Amino acid sequence: MALINCIDCSKNISDKAHTCPECGCPIQHTLAEIKKAKEKKEKNKLAELDALKQFLYFTIGFMILYYLFIY
Ligand SMILES: [Zn+2]
Repeated sequence: MALINCIDCSKNISDKAHTCPECGCPIQHTLAEIKKAKEKKEKNKLAELDALKQFLYFTIGFMILYYLFIY
């Protein structure tokens, strides 16, 4: 069990609680949404890294071919 801050009233509440005892804000639902958004962000980051890697490989490969043709 961990204590988290309520998003609505920022009181310390258990992350196992379904709703905030102070303001009734739905905790599990909010946590799930935050987790989802985080995962989506990380996925986007990974996709960006993959694109960068592909670009680097292409550039390096092109440079090697270029040098092979020149010399
Ligand atoms: Zn609250």
